[in-house]
Amino acid sequence: MAKKDIDWANLGFGYLKTDKRYVSNFKDGAWDDGAMIADDQITISECACVLQYAQTIFEGLKAYTTEDGRVVCFRPDLNADRMIDSAKRLEMPPFPKERFLEAVAQTVKENMDYVPPFGSGATLYIRPYMFGSNAVIGVKPAEEYQFRVFTTPVGPYFKGGVKPITIRVCDFDRAAPHGTGHIKAGLNYAMSLHAIVDAHNQGYDENMYLDAATRTKVEETGGANFLFVTKDNKIVTPKSNSILPSITRRSLMTVAKDYLGLEVEEREVFFDEISDFVECGLCGTAAVISPVGCVNDHGREIKFVNGCDEMGPVITKLRETLTGIQMGHLEAPEGWIMEIKP
Ligand SMILES: *Cc1c(COP(=O)(O)O)cnc(C)c1O
Repeated sequence: MAKKDIDWANLGFGYLKTDKRYVSNFKDGAWDDGAMIADDQITISECACVLQYAQTIFEGLKAYTTEDGRVVCFRPDLNADRMIDSAKRLEMPPFPKERFLEAVAQTVKENMDYVPPFGSGATLYIRPYMFGSNAVIGVKPAEEYQFRVFTTPVGPYFKGGVKPITIRVCDFDRAAPHGTGHIKAGLNYAMSLHAIVDAHNQGYDENMYLDAATRTKVEETGGANFLFVTKDNKIVTPKSNSILPSITRRSLMTVAKDYLGLEVEEREVFFDEISDFVECGLCGTAAVISPVGCVNDHGREIKFVNGCDEMGPVITKLRETLTGIQMGHLEAPEGWIMEIKP
C-alpha cells in the first residue's frame, strides 16, 4: 500500500478527486449490479428530475485509520437507514442497506491510498448520494436513478486549537413543520445558502434556526445538531420532528449516559431557557462536536459561561470519549465500528 503524497495535516475541507467511485443505476423498477468506475464525470439529460426539481439526497461519513492501523467507518449502518428514510420521503427507490454498506466498503477499499494515516487528524470523507436522472418536465418523481459513492480526503477540522464559535439567531427558517427537515436532502441546503452567506457577512460562524411555527424553540444549525449542558452537568438536546437526526449527536448521548454516567434528556428546548445552559456544542460527522461560545439574538449576547473562551469541560470530555471510541483507544459499543480490510 503506497499512500498518496498529500500534506495530510494541511488539507482543507475541499473536494479532491480520488481514483474510484461506486455507481448503481435504477431502471425499469430495479437496481443494477453496480460497479466501481474511474470516471468522475456524470452525463444526464438537461431535463433530469434532479436538475429541475431537486430530487436528490445524500449522506456523509468518514473512514479513518485507528491507532493500531485498521481502516474503519463509524456506524455506517445508521447512514444506510437514514438514506432509506430520505429516499422514501422524496419518492425515490431506497438503496438496500446491505448494498449500501458494501458500496461504502468497496469505495473506501479502492481508494485506500487516500485514507489519511493515524494521528494526522485528517480523514477520508465518504459521500453516498442518489438523484433522479431521467427527463421529467411535468412534476412527478423520476423513473430512473443513480446511486453513487465517492470519497475525498479532508483535513483536520480544528487546526491549531479549538476556538468556540459565535452564532446568530436566524430570521430565516430551515424546515417547515411536517416538511423535509428530518431527511438529508439537497433542497434543505439550497435554501440555507443565502442565510449562511448573510451570517458570514455579518461576522457570525453559523445560524441557529428556531422552529418555523412558533419561533420559540431551538432546532439546529444548517448542518449540525445542538447539545447543551446544564449547571448540574445534564446533557440536553432539542427534540423536534424537523431536525435531522445526527448520528454523532445520537452517539454522544449514548456516550454521555453509558461511558460518563451523565443524565441525558431529549426534549423541546425553548430559546428563552438557553441562557441557563453553561456549555453548548454542535454535533456532526465533520467536527464530532464543536463548541459554541456565544449566541447573538439581534444584538443581545448570550454567553455559555463554562465555554466562551475555550471548549468547556463537559463538551471536552464528550469529545475525547467519542473520538477515543472512534480511534480505538476505548472499547466501542457492539456494532459501532466497521472495519474495511485492504
Ligand atoms: C448531516 C447533518 C447533521 C449531522 O449529522 P451526522 O450524522 O452527525 O453527520 C446535522 N444536521 C443536518 C441538517 C445535517 O444535514
